[in-house]
Amino acid sequence: MENAPVSKNFIENIIDKDLAEGVYDHVCTRFPPEPNGYLHIGHAKSILLNYGLAKEYGGTFNMRFDDTNPTKEKVEFVESIKEDIKWLGADWEDRLFFASDYFEKMYEVAVRLIKKGKAYVDDLTAEQIREYRGTLTEPGKESPCRNRSIEENLQLFQDMKDGKFADGEKVLRAKIDMASPNMNMRDPVIYRVAHMSHHNTGDKWCIYPMYDFAHPLEDAFEGVTHSICTLEFEDHRPLYNWVVEEAEFPHPPKQIEFAKLYLTNVVTGKRYIKKLVEDGIVDGWDDPRLVSIAALRRRGFTPESIQMFVDLVGVSKSNSSVDYAMLEYCIREDLKLKRPRLMAVLDPLKLVIDNYPEGQTEMLTAPNNMENEALGEREIPFGRELWIEREDFMVDPPRKYKRMFPGTEVRLMNAYFVTCTGYDTDDEGNVTCVHCTYDPATKGGSAPDGRKVKGTIHWVEASHAGKVVTRLYENIVDEEKGVYNKEDGSLNLNPNSLTTVSAYVEPCLMDAKAFESFQFVRNGFFCADYKDSKEGAPVFNRIVSLKSSFKLPK
Ligand code: ATP
Ligand code: MG
Repeated sequence: MENAPVSKNFIENIIDKDLAEGVYDHVCTRFPPEPNGYLHIGHAKSILLNYGLAKEYGGTFNMRFDDTNPTKEKVEFVESIKEDIKWLGADWEDRLFFASDYFEKMYEVAVRLIKKGKAYVDDLTAEQIREYRGTLTEPGKESPCRNRSIEENLQLFQDMKDGKFADGEKVLRAKIDMASPNMNMRDPVIYRVAHMSHHNTGDKWCIYPMYDFAHPLEDAFEGVTHSICTLEFEDHRPLYNWVVEEAEFPHPPKQIEFAKLYLTNVVTGKRYIKKLVEDGIVDGWDDPRLVSIAALRRRGFTPESIQMFVDLVGVSKSNSSVDYAMLEYCIREDLKLKRPRLMAVLDPLKLVIDNYPEGQTEMLTAPNNMENEALGEREIPFGRELWIEREDFMVDPPRKYKRMFPGTEVRLMNAYFVTCTGYDTDDEGNVTCVHCTYDPATKGGSAPDGRKVKGTIHWVEASHAGKVVTRLYENIVDEEKGVYNKEDGSLNLNPNSLTTVSAYVEPCLMDAKAFESFQFVRNGFFCADYKDSKEGAPVFNRIVSLKSSFKLPK
């Protein structure tokens, strides 16, 4: 990827042109979440895009909570959102803002609009306003209040602010064009009466600005140059421009829309996740099967892997879905050289080396990552009794089977060659134990006489092994059936999305700290769970298996 040709995306082209033509002499972007839920992978795209552009152009990136709607917002989300953005590496430095800090200035702009004859107080009810708005094929009708005098409007708006009206009794509307082909321009409501407490301003205000009025002003007050949002706001752009023009900012911000990021077969809708939490199907908003940023972090994704993913997806103007496998590809790529490759046995079967002295253990040295010497080496205990994966032994294997079966020699990874001499079974014929002999001359995994073996299997020495809980995941929804049930819109859940397995691991893994991740040879990448791990008793979540069907597009 580093050698990929540098081609700029359409947003960079717009910025280049603006800088070249002197529209702006710097770049300022922002991320403006509503504090009404946890952030998900789609938001990560927006965060990294905005932050990345600010960095690329030596500009600034603002963090702003869009908290103009007191009904939906919760303070608890403010902290989780900040934590997620910090973790992703987007640095707002000292520029953390709240839209509610601008209520006074927004009010002043509204008053100025009234004085310019560009806004009026309307008595129509919400329903009448809807009726008067017209349709896509028919122009709207002007409200009888549209031509109120400026003085009367100023007084009524003051009265709205002073709490003289009940919710819904009066609104302030922009005076634009009731016949505009763009419905958003048909005198949109810009202030409403709402007798509600706000988490930041308390009971100071009983009028609140509407999103389409507040958002452009927030951008303009902060000196944002490029206000990047998603495609559904394209039709709102004329209104955005109207607001910043009528408010007479010398360098008004510019709105640019890009396509949302959608992942296939994942659940991102807030109400669906809420239900999964309430029904106890997931253990919280950060359950590792979800794709909230908190869930990805808990699962063991890294900020680097998410950056790589966002870069691969790119920025476009048309909506499309990206395969979850691409996200998995990115975390594998990111971790493969960074993390030690240790041995863990998820489905254990006993292996006894009959010619190895009873009661003896020795320490073997192994590289932590064959492809990255910088990760150093470790010591692994070896002895007479080991655990191996059940699937690594077969009594009667098919022709291509390269692992252990009676009469063959295989390599125990980082240890010795062993030859399978037999096996024990229980009354039902299940294999309970495999026997072998080892060749002491093959220590380190190669034979002095140059003979080769076809298979290498991993193992854990039984008396020193740590026993841990590992959790293996499948998609939370049934990919065959699709995410949503066609009849009632509920989720098609996959009953096998979580499997808990007790595994044997190398002793060093017992000290794993929360969020620490490792490759378990052949079994995948695993991360110590921060919620359920205890000191000396880690619980490992599988981040991703090692196999992939995903191919990087050429
Ligand atoms: P809501 O439905 O509550 O408005 P939202 O996902 O739009 O939810 P916001 O807090 O409004 O949440 O979003 C903050 C920013 O993230 C916005 O600029 C929005 O455009 C962007 N964003 C939201 N979803 C995606 C997505 N799937 N892909 C890219 N950007 C997104
Ligand atoms: Mg939104």
